[in-house]
Amino acid sequence: MPKGYPVALNQLISTFAKLPGVGEKTAQRFSLFLLSHPELCETLGDLIKELPYRVKLCKICRNFSENDLCSICQDDTREKEVLCIVENPVTLHHIEATGVYRGYYFVLHYLLSPKDGIGPKEIGLDELTFLIKTRGIKEVFIALSPTMAGEATATYILQHLKNEPVKITRLACGVPMGMEIQFVDPLTLKKAITGRECLKNE
Ligand SMILES: [Zn+2]
Repeated sequence: MPKGYPVALNQLISTFAKLPGVGEKTAQRFSLFLLSHPELCETLGDLIKELPYRVKLCKICRNFSENDLCSICQDDTREKEVLCIVENPVTLHHIEATGVYRGYYFVLHYLLSPKDGIGPKEIGLDELTFLIKTRGIKEVFIALSPTMAGEATATYILQHLKNEPVKITRLACGVPMGMEIQFVDPLTLKKAITGRECLKNE
């Protein structure tokens, strides 16, 4: 920690340094910048403080939302029978941006990782099954990154849904193995969505 700074500044620097991808130098730059921009301190402070109270999980799909239902679940012009499983809201928005997918989503928020305590409960498998059973879903489209954890999670979900009368598809090749979906360029992703492959028929 830099010497000669007041405690308040040092505390802010060490807090910024806890953010992913922020080292101590960047943390210091952010903090000094804020010190010379009091109006930004005010706005940022309010937004950060309100964040956990304003943004919650959509009651249906677990996407981030300020209301009980997110804007996608409230949109009844979408294809009702298709449900796309994504790891997180970042992937969801990446898929939305391609404009080729018009069904609904389910957000896992994690990939299965028993050593980190992430099991079926954490990824919302019961909610997912309930959704499939109660909303007339005919196709479950698994759009998880083709990483080891993504593949393991997809296999688990496939196994879990094997007796449900739904077709299960996944992204077609085009998404390189080992790559996270959020880093795939939109054109490749578009192709992977439209050419999704079938893992299981109804
Ligand atoms: Zn939703």
